[in-house]
Amino acid sequence: MSRQDNAAGSVKARADLALNDEFLRKAVRFTTERLRRGKKEAAEEQGSWEEWRERGRQIRLHTIAHLDYYLNLFADNARANGVHVHFAETSAEAVKISLEIAQQKAAKTVLKSKSMVTEELHINDALQAIGVEAIESDLGEYIIQLAGESPSHIIIPAIHRNRFQIAELLSEDAGMPLPPDTSILAGYVRKKLREHFLEADIGMTGCNFAIAETGSMVLFENEGNARMVTTLPKTQITLMGMERIIPSWADLEVMATLLPRSATGQKLTVYMSGITGPRRSEDADGPDEMHIIIVDNGRSNQLGDPELQELLSCIRCGACLNACPVYRHIGGHAYGGPYSGPIGAVLKPALQKNVAEWDDIANASSLCGACYEACPVKIPLHDMLVYLRRRKVDAGFGDKAEAAGMKGFAAAMGSAKRMKLAVKAGRLAQKLVARDGGIRIRLGPLKGWNTYRVAPILAKRSFREQWRELEHELQAELKEQKPDVQARMERAIREREAGKGGIGHD
Ligand code: SF4
Repeated sequence: MSRQDNAAGSVKARADLALNDEFLRKAVRFTTERLRRGKKEAAEEQGSWEEWRERGRQIRLHTIAHLDYYLNLFADNARANGVHVHFAETSAEAVKISLEIAQQKAAKTVLKSKSMVTEELHINDALQAIGVEAIESDLGEYIIQLAGESPSHIIIPAIHRNRFQIAELLSEDAGMPLPPDTSILAGYVRKKLREHFLEADIGMTGCNFAIAETGSMVLFENEGNARMVTTLPKTQITLMGMERIIPSWADLEVMATLLPRSATGQKLTVYMSGITGPRRSEDADGPDEMHIIIVDNGRSNQLGDPELQELLSCIRCGACLNACPVYRHIGGHAYGGPYSGPIGAVLKPALQKNVAEWDDIANASSLCGACYEACPVKIPLHDMLVYLRRRKVDAGFGDKAEAAGMKGFAAAMGSAKRMKLAVKAGRLAQKLVARDGGIRIRLGPLKGWNTYRVAPILAKRSFREQWRELEHELQAELKEQKPDVQARMERAIREREAGKGGIGHD
């Protein structure tokens, strides 16, 4: 499909839709503000946040640098614990393995806990296509499943919906009106899911961290649903990105300090489950059979890439989304994939080899660096965004008008004389279009900007002109004051010699 054909699905078109949706913008702004404030307070309260951040970064960098070793160690230990470990190179392979397990078990229902990797693989659609019902058990995921949407935030999937819209959806599901009261709505979903927990044939989860030294997987959650999903159904499937590994339980302490604080401002997540294999004879509960599918799906593209390898350090906390001024205006769906915000703008192109189609979302950033400041493992997302923009241009998919504009800009900025001339010409030209202190026309390159704000005009005097004038004024002032300054200096020296004081005393 050419870029032209894909225009309706472009980032710009999706961002326009979001910008014109007042409900969405208000809901996203409200929750991201709350999460940002919570994270800031939790980091301050923690006390030595920067040191923990650096420690987290070092753990992730070390693991990714030795990923093959830790993956093998994890797989060997998990197998020794009785887990069936599968490696899937592509999305199609991961889906195929999941479906084969579902068919072997003659499963009718698969109960899921929140998992971004299953969103990436579109596993629900694939299960449905073979007649297996996939049921989301996380409240946010349950809501967006009812709405037929994808998550618009890594941590809060239904962030774009307010309680009135959610009440409408759940009322339809319940077949009776439900009030827009969050505890009543949550109570309704809890009751409804309870039946599914007891009946589901397979439990399906993602994985926050996989511990190489014991072959265990760890899940962080707040609702308790993941614990039910991993204990009640007889078969469990865990899908995990191949980068989820950390070497040891000691490293989990660092991650458990960073992840909940960065994600929701909590000191600790409400439930943290460590699972090491299927149920043993002495265990009261747990699955009889457990499968872990380790998914590559483009992640190994980043290994060895000096610009993008660090991306594999991501712990999917969502803090960069809450900090991003672009995400806070347009929400997650504008990014066109399960991962949104700054991490989505880098991850999606990095996972895909199709430069033309996906590198466009790297433009959905102001490059302010707030994502880097927020990231608990210090991933330089802003540098990666610049790299992806360059990669797209180098591959010949740059915008021709933009390239010509940049060439003109570089030529003008290349010499002081040309810059002065260009500024003068700009001041003359803007007289034709400036109104009330701004440029408001919605044509050509100004269309996108001026649809939502007003382009500023060139100042009457440039910084250099103002600086020159200031310099002249200062010189004149100094000339006038010089005799006085000289006299003060001489007096101070005389006083110091006489033991009365020194330079600086007046
Ligand atoms: S890039 Fe950093 S801030 Fe963003 S989701 Fe990943 S770990 Fe969190």
